[in-house]
Amino acid sequence: MSPNDLRLEILGTSFTISADEERSYLEKLLQEYYLKVRDMQKSTGLKDPLKIAILTGFTLCDELHRVRHNAHATEEEEALQRTINLFARLDETIGKDKNGTVQALYFLENPVKHYEWGSPSWIPRLLRRENPTGEPWAELWMGVHPAAPSMLKNQPPKSLAQLIAADPPCFVGKEAAVNFGGLPFLFKLLAAARPLSIQAHPSKEQARQGWQRENAQDTPERNYKDDNHKPEILCALSPFTALCGFRYPKDIDFLIFTCFAAAPRSLQNGLAPLRAALTDGRGSPLRDFLAGLLGMPKELREQLTAYVSTEIRNPPEIDGSIWPLVQRLAKLYPEDPGILAPLYLNLIRLEPGQAIYLPEGILHAYMDGFGVELMANSDNVLRCGLTSKHVDLNELMNVLYFHPFMPDLLTDRPGAAPADPVFFSYPSPCKEFSLSVIRNLQGPFPLPGPAIIVVTAGRLAVSRAEAAGPDSDACWEFEPGGSAFIPPSPEPLILSGDFTLYAASIPAGR
Ligand SMILES: [Zn+2]
Repeated sequence: MSPNDLRLEILGTSFTISADEERSYLEKLLQEYYLKVRDMQKSTGLKDPLKIAILTGFTLCDELHRVRHNAHATEEEEALQRTINLFARLDETIGKDKNGTVQALYFLENPVKHYEWGSPSWIPRLLRRENPTGEPWAELWMGVHPAAPSMLKNQPPKSLAQLIAADPPCFVGKEAAVNFGGLPFLFKLLAAARPLSIQAHPSKEQARQGWQRENAQDTPERNYKDDNHKPEILCALSPFTALCGFRYPKDIDFLIFTCFAAAPRSLQNGLAPLRAALTDGRGSPLRDFLAGLLGMPKELREQLTAYVSTEIRNPPEIDGSIWPLVQRLAKLYPEDPGILAPLYLNLIRLEPGQAIYLPEGILHAYMDGFGVELMANSDNVLRCGLTSKHVDLNELMNVLYFHPFMPDLLTDRPGAAPADPVFFSYPSPCKEFSLSVIRNLQGPFPLPGPAIIVVTAGRLAVSRAEAAGPDSDACWEFEPGGSAFIPPSPEPLILSGDFTLYAASIPAGR
């Protein structure tokens, strides 16, 4: 390298330039340029090296112009407006070029969670994968969650999170990029062979405050893993059993009375304060009941477990599946007051295609079944029982909604025959996500990107409507279990085949 050669390593690229100037002078220029680039990255938050370089050059031209014409410093606002206008023009020009490189869809390779409650068969069967050791496959995550992001298939190793972070407006749309900074939902397959813990999720405000509080206290056992709420919708792919929302106090009292009518006097006496809380008309019946239940002394919990385990009689006055479920829970979680959950929470049985939406503060526990689950990008869970994990009763009591709540049963094809094409979006009052099912629809993909799709049955072919771009002739084939990310595009994708797919997208205009 001659003394006048200078090596530039910047914005992910490197090359050497030659110049007549002194080396020390060139190095000084380079340092100044590095600083300008760094300031530009900081002030704009841009990640695209081309945009950063163009904008840095532009501001340098601006400085040069001012020096030459001795212009007065302009107002900050004016400068800001110029930058915004420039962004818009860059998006237009670079965006057009990019349409050549942004794919119409990206196949996903999704991480699996092997929680102990998972089913060894549902997810491997859908993906046609072997599971010789019979280990549980509990959840398959489709999204950008840092704990387990989806990877792009057939590409150099890259996660969906990295793809989107490189240019959020391009991959999730300008509005979502501004509102959420990226993809605002997490999409899952969930396969439960055994009950999950009883739990509830906080509101956005509770999560924000809890997150700040626990950060300040440096709490070892955290409730809040992030500052976001976690509304969720679950749609059954197989018959699915869930407990969800408090029953009416008088109904809870009736169930306890009926189930324990033949119990020893000491156990009945132990349960009497719980029944009184539900019926004496004072205080908040459900709050007082739950506080009493969770504060049950060990001796009473032992008696309760012993009685439930030995009393095989199914009380004839009540729904025949309630008592067997109590017994099943007592076997799995002896001495956990959560074994009475089927008596105080609604027992919901979903048929394939039916869904429930769970807003903040609603107690719920999935018992068994296979389904798709869609939620806001958060991991904030407050547990209430049927778990060996951390339970924080005080915080739980703060976030719970102590009123009877029966979720609407959302059904996917009102009036449609089994072979009819179906496109149905499950109603959910939440701005982060919308869950849709599409079955045998031959024609344009009916949702705006960004979306994640997963095929749960049959075969799907996807092609581009117009001949344009590098994959204009492309046709993408999906088998059951296949999933993909679809970025926003003005050009619709065309679906064909006999298939059922579930899609996660962002609801328009909310
Ligand atoms: Zn939940």
